[in-house]
Amino acid sequence: MPINESMVQDIVQEVLAKMQIQEAPTGKHGVFKDMNEAIEAAKQSQKIVRKMSMDQREKIISTIRKKICQNAETFARMGVEETGMGNVGDKILKHRLVAEKTPGTEDITTTAWSGDRGLTLIEMGPFGVIGAITPCTNPSETVLCNTMGMLAGGNTVVFNPHPAAIKTSIFAVNLLNEASLEAGGPDNIACTVENPTLETSNIMMKHKDIPLIAATGGPGVVTAVLSSGKRGIGAGAGNPPALVDETADIRKAAQDIVNGCTFDNNLPCIAEKEIVAVSSVVDELMHYMVTEQGCYLASKEEQDALTAVVLKGGRLNRKCVGRDAKTLLSMIGVKVPSNIRCITFEGPKEHPLIAEELMMPILGVVRAKDFNDAVEQAVWLEHGNRHSAHIHSKNIDNITTYAKAIDTAILVKNAPSYAALGFGGEGYCTFTIASRTGEGLTSASTFTKRRRCVMSDSLCIR
Ligand code: NAD
Repeated sequence: MPINESMVQDIVQEVLAKMQIQEAPTGKHGVFKDMNEAIEAAKQSQKIVRKMSMDQREKIISTIRKKICQNAETFARMGVEETGMGNVGDKILKHRLVAEKTPGTEDITTTAWSGDRGLTLIEMGPFGVIGAITPCTNPSETVLCNTMGMLAGGNTVVFNPHPAAIKTSIFAVNLLNEASLEAGGPDNIACTVENPTLETSNIMMKHKDIPLIAATGGPGVVTAVLSSGKRGIGAGAGNPPALVDETADIRKAAQDIVNGCTFDNNLPCIAEKEIVAVSSVVDELMHYMVTEQGCYLASKEEQDALTAVVLKGGRLNRKCVGRDAKTLLSMIGVKVPSNIRCITFEGPKEHPLIAEELMMPILGVVRAKDFNDAVEQAVWLEHGNRHSAHIHSKNIDNITTYAKAIDTAILVKNAPSYAALGFGGEGYCTFTIASRTGEGLTSASTFTKRRRCVMSDSLCIR
């Protein structure tokens, strides 16, 4: 095959991206051996940030946005290479989303009351140095998005990232500090340690200079943070059900659900993890999923084999998390063409591949006898996480009933789950959804404390 110019450019891009991965800078710009040193550096940096104008903070955030866009592919390749999870194309989109739709200083607002007795303001002030714990599923996305919001609120941040994604997280910390320096800000707006462990996490949680901890991860970390005695923002696990009723556009529902479920190989905590459909539409829905949306219909034997591999010894097998459908099927000796992007089957809600949060493109379908039964089963499957749920319906009463019953931080109607992150839907982006502690989709204002400033009997000039 003759090599043309665009092929050469593609190869050059790929080689450059790989070189950047190998040359990812460590040991500078926010990276420390010792957690206490990291916290001290972030503390000194916050003293400078505190004195900066909102305009200066915004300049740093703009530079961060620019640098994330420039490095989106490097981050994506690095994340996949280091963790073995997700896919490069979708990770590029996730980084662009962070760059473009994470709120900045515009999220920091003032509330005012003015009247006969004077003027009272509520202003959003910084906490200081925030401790943040981040997952391996969206490692750089979370570090970048958290820092932009925390900085907009006047804070600096110390991360204890997931050890399985430390290289990618360090690359993000480096980029954040480089952006700050480039925009005239201080170094160490974001800090971390070279080797994050439970011990470094404990040091951070107990440190006198950390007043607030934001934990993004599974139930263990959120419980640990909420038991620390500090204020905690807990962004925990989910198991989002997608409910389909008889009024839905079934063909579109199949497309939306499979698109959402397969995005970055199902790593986002908001992604569809199972379907609950009313009996009258189950066959049609699965027909479209299999014939038009690249779903592989797993037999009973294949489901059993998948369960044995994916939930080896009753525990989630990390080697399966974030893998694509073809790879998962190859683990049980089933070869499929590359257009297969999801695995489906019909089963009861108690089926382990349905009830567990798997974070891989396996989408079991639960049959419900009617809408009320579907709601009941979906609520059971969400396990009280109050995280995310989705519905495909044109019946407003049904949507309202479901929304009230499931009571989640996110409820997407008639779209793929990622619409909740501002991707094909209105609204801003975050990768820290504080399901457990109730802040919901975090943004700059979440990382501030409210302060009342009262001027009595003056400054009311009406
Ligand atoms: P994980 O719970 O294994 O790890 C998350 C982070 O917590 C890591 O940095 C880890 O080192 C740390 N950690 C774990 N246990 C800890 C403990 N006892 N004390 C201190 N630190 C501890 O999760 P993961 O596999 O990296 O990410 C996937 C999980 O996170 C899923 O359950 C997913 O739903 C959830 N998640 C939630 C959100 C959200 O916004 N709500 C976002 C992303 C991921």
